[in-house]
Amino acid sequence: MPEGDTIRRLADRIGARFAGHRVERCVTRDPRLVGLDLSGRTLLEADAVGKHLLLRFDDGRTLHAHLLMTGSWRVGRAATEPEWRRRVELWFDDGRLTGIDVPILGVVATAHEDVIVGHLGPDLCGTSAPDPLAVAARLQRDPDVPLAGALLDQTNVAGFGNVYAVELPFIVGVSPNQPVGSIVGLEGLVAIGTPMIRQHATAGPRNTTGRRLGTADHFVYGRRNCPLCATPVSSWDERTSPWGRQSKWCPTCQRVEPSRVVDLARARKLLALHPVRRDPMFPAAVADPR
Ligand SMILES: [Zn+2]
Repeated sequence: MPEGDTIRRLADRIGARFAGHRVERCVTRDPRLVGLDLSGRTLLEADAVGKHLLLRFDDGRTLHAHLLMTGSWRVGRAATEPEWRRRVELWFDDGRLTGIDVPILGVVATAHEDVIVGHLGPDLCGTSAPDPLAVAARLQRDPDVPLAGALLDQTNVAGFGNVYAVELPFIVGVSPNQPVGSIVGLEGLVAIGTPMIRQHATAGPRNTTGRRLGTADHFVYGRRNCPLCATPVSSWDERTSPWGRQSKWCPTCQRVEPSRVVDLARARKLLALHPVRRDPMFPAAVADPR
């Protein structure tokens, strides 16, 4: 599932390759794009807002795409998928851009992109990082919502997907089921998750542990036992999950309690090897009061 960091990386790759280039031929195979012909138009820029990809052209139009679980883009080389899966294909002078199985596609006036992205919360992978305190306040707007549900709600903050909604709660020792209103120090989780997703937006793959950098390594996402206490992890599947996405947590380290404090000491220990530790936003250790 592409998260905000993946889409930012994709937009940067498309921009680096094709921004300033003219479309020579345009083929669409999506009913929502009937009549769309971008040939002769120049791609001004490729941008990402949350998990939305925005391709802006010089005629004041934006091609909008959301990949949900299934979509992908081939940048440069010709796609080999069957034609019916290639929903949109743009030929540039030196390569091709193909949207494959993209479930949400549309065209909007660039001046009216708000119709598509205006409902989103602050963009974690935007030009500047949002303020963790402001993001935490948005996440806690509805105190009864479980933490993972609040992290995934793109109207709170745009960019986090399911890997972060599983891994960030584990890192700070809070259950994804813990109601957000009962979490103390939630801005600490945000101050870890924000630089982490921003780092992954410039260099993949998404690695939440700092171990085996260059591989997609995670603490509990996709795992059976807690890496700290070896307890078998508990889980929701997509049908049973209150927020409609599968989840995992350690029933020992991440107990639901009437009130739960974000454990920054645990986070610092778990992320000792992760480059996010060197980010200025990462919560500093509080000096010993002695
Ligand atoms: Zn554990």
